[in-house]
Amino acid sequence: MTTASSAKTPRREPRARTGTRTGTRSGAEARIVRSIGEAIADRRLPPGTKLTEESLAEAFGVSRERVRKVLLLLAQRRVVTLIPNRGAFVAKPTPKEAREVFEARHIIERAIMERLERLPRPLPADLLARLRDHGALEDAAERDGDRKAMIRLSGHFHLLLAEFAGNATLSGILTDLIDRSSLAIAAFERRSSHTCSAGDHRRLIAALINNRPGEATALMIDHLDEVERQLDLEAKTDARIDLKAIFADEPETA
Ligand SMILES: [Zn+2]
Repeated sequence: MTTASSAKTPRREPRARTGTRTGTRSGAEARIVRSIGEAIADRRLPPGTKLTEESLAEAFGVSRERVRKVLLLLAQRRVVTLIPNRGAFVAKPTPKEAREVFEARHIIERAIMERLERLPRPLPADLLARLRDHGALEDAAERDGDRKAMIRLSGHFHLLLAEFAGNATLSGILTDLIDRSSLAIAAFERRSSHTCSAGDHRRLIAALINNRPGEATALMIDHLDEVERQLDLEAKTDARIDLKAIFADEPETA
């Protein structure tokens, strides 16, 4: 499902290396979790999509039992909602949940940036090379107008920084939060908006290299605020939607 694209853009490296989650579960389950996370991020699986065990088992070539385990895991992470007698669905966050996810990202990513700012300078050559390689991939995706790659790479960028910060627990928490913010973005983004801007990421990379105290952390906070501002969190909840108003222009059926 994802092998062709991930060969071109090795964006999930940090996720594979971080956290105990992948270490304690079978490779197949980790792979399915990752693939579903990617499909949510690039909008192939919008919020509310029904996830049938049978189709997933077929798609991934695994047993339904294994799919069930994956769905349970995703439900614990609040990426999937399990409804008794109806099955599993891609979660549909409420505006409140979306705000909470971004608030949590502020806290976690501020901590990550502060750790990065404290790293001895100059930064290690391999870290610099990976940052620059990543920046180049994002620029290329933006130039090509490859929205799917841009979405993937933008999530990868945040996980890459978490990996460099060297705290696997923070990385693990951020991995979950990024999947949940993908859901929030899919549910609430204003028309034709983007998620992360490659320009913001370029400025973050430059700030980390130049190391003016506090600059990179402040940029990250601004960046997350900007992503959140692109969401329409004032959207009406289902209960308040006026169906009569929505369908007022429909021709009457006699
Ligand atoms: Zn970003």
